[in-house]
Amino acid sequence: MKILFLDQSGKLGGAELCLVDIAKLYGKNALVGLFADGDFRKLLETNHIPVKVFKNPGINVNKDSNLFTALASLGTVVNLIQQIVNLAQDYDMIYANTQKALVVGAIASLLTHKPLVYHLHDILSLDHFSKTNLQVAITLINKFASLVIANSQASKNAFIAAGGKANIEVVYNGFNVNNYQVSENNITELKQQLQLTNKFIIGHFSRLSPWKGQHILIDALVKCPENVIVILVGDALFGEDEYVNQLHQKVATLGIESRVKFLGFRNDIPQLMTMCDLVVHTSTAPEPFGRVIVEGMLCGKPVIAAKAGGAIELVEDGINGFLVTPNNPQELAQTINYCLQETEIVKNIAKNAQINASQRFDVNVINQQIQAIIKSPTSAAF
Ligand code: UDP
Repeated sequence: MKILFLDQSGKLGGAELCLVDIAKLYGKNALVGLFADGDFRKLLETNHIPVKVFKNPGINVNKDSNLFTALASLGTVVNLIQQIVNLAQDYDMIYANTQKALVVGAIASLLTHKPLVYHLHDILSLDHFSKTNLQVAITLINKFASLVIANSQASKNAFIAAGGKANIEVVYNGFNVNNYQVSENNITELKQQLQLTNKFIIGHFSRLSPWKGQHILIDALVKCPENVIVILVGDALFGEDEYVNQLHQKVATLGIESRVKFLGFRNDIPQLMTMCDLVVHTSTAPEPFGRVIVEGMLCGKPVIAAKAGGAIELVEDGINGFLVTPNNPQELAQTINYCLQETEIVKNIAKNAQINASQRFDVNVINQQIQAIIKSPTSAAF
């Protein structure tokens, strides 16, 4: 099976990291076409996955920009579509991994009669998208996608609620479990480098964006003891510079500059997570999946997650982590303080989570699921 994968982003978000594991499965039979250059291209190359960055795609690749605009400006992206149509002749399938890849992939599928698979990494609801964007996405999926792979039941439910009718299967993200086994020596050194020795470290791992809720954690932090500090790992990937300024200002106004470290985008997530005492997820809108929640578990860390969307499928409150009401710093602070006090109980919860997540999200198991549904004769695509 030869697959032409399409992704609009050159940057590394959850959807892109997930695609690396899937495309790797197909080796030389895969080609990942990107609408923008960046670290994603480098990561694909490091993993020996064939990649092509399209020249002058003429499409606004900002994730938050309007899909309708993208569609309306199709006149200017004829060249991109032409390149994809030419390439697609040599492939059995077009696999769109992002929304603008869906727009272009749908047209290429129409012109080449190659089946279109759409990997849905989003909650298609008004919390995340404009009404027009939703309508465009749902119409294209219903009309052109032979198969939709949803990254959670929450994403699938939102798709159906928004009028989605295409053939849809839920497959969670997979993780290479061994990557999250980090030696203690590395951690001691990292703590020293970051001057965090003897601190209780809470890690927040996400791009800096209002709906990822870093501000909620900062508000909760002031209700926690002085030795508790926060590392914010991630960058503003899609132009959220104003939010980043607001976060810095908030930290300064609260006088907690020494307790909040902005580490920017990092490639050593397993090491940083293992260094933490607690991993916190604070999205204020439903999270489609929440890779960071699983990664925290795989590192053997207690995880507190915002109770909405995919997070509810990953975390069972009090069993393998903690769920708190989104947008509620008070409740978050209470749960952090509980973790500080009940260390033995919390350690067992984290251990449970690590064992459970290692089985449930093992990339080998997940990849088998992906291969099975892509091959499945019951799928309309094949
Ligand atoms: N991530 C990373 N470096 C960072 C911050 C985040 O590699 O500095 C990774 C993180 O480990 C996770 C992904 O980015 O695998 C984010 O995925 P998630 O599903 O949590 O959120 P999304 O970006 O898809 O909204």
